[in-house]
Amino acid sequence: MTPGNKSTLDYEWMAFPGEWNEETLKNKFLEFMNELIKETQSNLPPKRIQYQVEQSVEYQEIRKQWNNLTPTERLNGWKQLLEKAEGALKNVLPTCVQCGECCRKGSPTLHLEDLELLQQGRIPWNRIFALRKGEPVRPPNEENEGKPYFLLDERIKIREKQDGQGCVFLDDTSDRCTIYADRPIQCRAQACWDPTESRELAKGVYLTRQDIFEKVELLMNIIIEHEKRCSFESLHKAFHQLQESEAKEVDSFLKLVAYEEHFRDFVSEQFHIPKEELELVLGRSFASLMPIFGLKVAEESDGTKCLVNDK
Ligand code: SF4
Repeated sequence: MTPGNKSTLDYEWMAFPGEWNEETLKNKFLEFMNELIKETQSNLPPKRIQYQVEQSVEYQEIRKQWNNLTPTERLNGWKQLLEKAEGALKNVLPTCVQCGECCRKGSPTLHLEDLELLQQGRIPWNRIFALRKGEPVRPPNEENEGKPYFLLDERIKIREKQDGQGCVFLDDTSDRCTIYADRPIQCRAQACWDPTESRELAKGVYLTRQDIFEKVELLMNIIIEHEKRCSFESLHKAFHQLQESEAKEVDSFLKLVAYEEHFRDFVSEQFHIPKEELELVLGRSFASLMPIFGLKVAEESDGTKCLVNDK
């Protein structure tokens, strides 16, 4: 029985499994999962339950034989799958079924233990970036109504996809992690059925640029100089002044954003650091973060830059 005392067969969309082909079976099963999860108000992603059932021997057998089953056998097989799904929701297996849902919510933050993965080239340098102290970041999954908060300490993270649809290492077609054997410690601790281990890990030591570049004096000097001249503290101060003056004192804010851009261009050119890797050395540019402040930098036809509302 489904929650709300409905029989699984009460749903009109599952009335004629005898006529379904294999593809329809798969789609109807996913529809059922979504419905079931909605009704039980479970926090688990439907895909997690779907994958758990799909990896079971019973599901594989029914699916393999589906085309050769009689309509009555299909109806029985379908009933078995629905019961299996309801059972899976009640008894979530304490194992990762690689449904990709955690990876779709965001990319992992790296810990000190992950340094070896970088040093051995198992995670390429251009796939990570730094979030600096004081940087505004958006919480994953619309937590706190999606309002940005400010980082108290530096973090190193794996990049996310351009459209914001999760970790860059997630293969959307297969839902698999493309670096599964070399995934960071946070991914190993993540468990959708029990958050205890990942909560414990969050108390651990996070990786910083100091850990990565401590033996590269030149880069460390650039990082220190950049922090001195273009800290997030100075950006917040300039933004505050901008707000206080009701947007009249735009100059100091704009100057700081432009100076930071110039600093980056200079470092990139002088030391031949590609733009993607610059986001590890210097973090994300002020200009790229303007939308978080509700602004964006626009370029006039004569090349001068100005701040406009980001709508
Ligand atoms: S590294 Fe792999 S396991 Fe970790 S979030 Fe990215 S895709 Fe998922």
